[in-house]
Amino acid sequence: MAVDATQAYDDQNIFARILRGEIPSRTVYQDDWALAFHDINPQAPTHILVIPKGAYVSWDDFSARATEAEIAGFVRAVGHVAREAGLVAPGYRLLANTGTDSHQEVPHLHVHLFAGRPLGPMLAR
Ligand code: AMP
Repeated sequence: MAVDATQAYDDQNIFARILRGEIPSRTVYQDDWALAFHDINPQAPTHILVIPKGAYVSWDDFSARATEAEIAGFVRAVGHVAREAGLVAPGYRLLANTGTDSHQEVPHLHVHLFAGRPLGPMLAR
């Protein structure tokens, strides 16, 4: 069921449970602001999800409500993960599905980081 980008934060969502350590994940990196882990159903040779530690439903929610420190910390964490994985030279793609038309499935902001092969056109046509 796709996420309604205007819905309230559900603290039982799967990424909230990963953040609380209730469900395991293959952690790539974490700091005060973000957690990065491998997607359970990878769509590319490298498919990492980066999520903020704070309770935000979507990019819309995060960009509207997060503090400057949370935003800076999260954006820096995404860049750090890509650099540490050696993805800057070959290149990578970031994607943040937001709301119904995007098919966002998990109602906690996540940025997908795809890499490891030529990624093709930006959107299926
Ligand atoms: P989205 O459609 O943008 O909401 O993407 C949700 C992503 O979360 C999908 O790529 C799923 O494969 C991934 N996912 C769902 N559950 C887990 C989990 N427990 N651990 C890692 N990735 C997950």
